[in-house]
Amino acid sequence: MASKMASCIFCKIIKGEIPCFKLFESDKTLAFLDINPLSKGHALVIPKIHGEKLTDIPDDHLTEILPIAKKLVVATGAQEYNILQNNGRGAHQEVGHVHFHMIPKPNAQEGLGIGWPQQ
Ligand code: 5GP
Repeated sequence: MASKMASCIFCKIIKGEIPCFKLFESDKTLAFLDINPLSKGHALVIPKIHGEKLTDIPDDHLTEILPIAKKLVVATGAQEYNILQNNGRGAHQEVGHVHFHMIPKPNAQEGLGIGWPQQ
């Protein structure tokens, strides 16, 4: 586990070793813009504890995730959006640290207003 954490790109983001465009941070959770967004405002919400799959993360480190994803949706003004979470290579997971995608649909651009960070 320690070696996986040492090489984990999202653990490096949490530690500040790799920069990100931060949207929210608490002791258990971090939200930041996706480096390769599928739409403007595409964000990732992650537990700060390292775990590859959802089932590796204790419940009390997951409780903030959906409320934060919801707040990010509201901030975009998106009326249509995807909340996605992939587990395992065969399920299109590329980064082995649990993350939830918040992907506003393109019509959300109309709602992007003051306060929403620009990439
Ligand atoms: P997955 O396919 O694992 O569900 O998605 C991983 C996501 O992480 C991708 O959308 C990818 O663009 C994003 N990502 C990978 N490396 C970085 C990085 O260094 N910084 C940020 N902000 N996003 C990243």
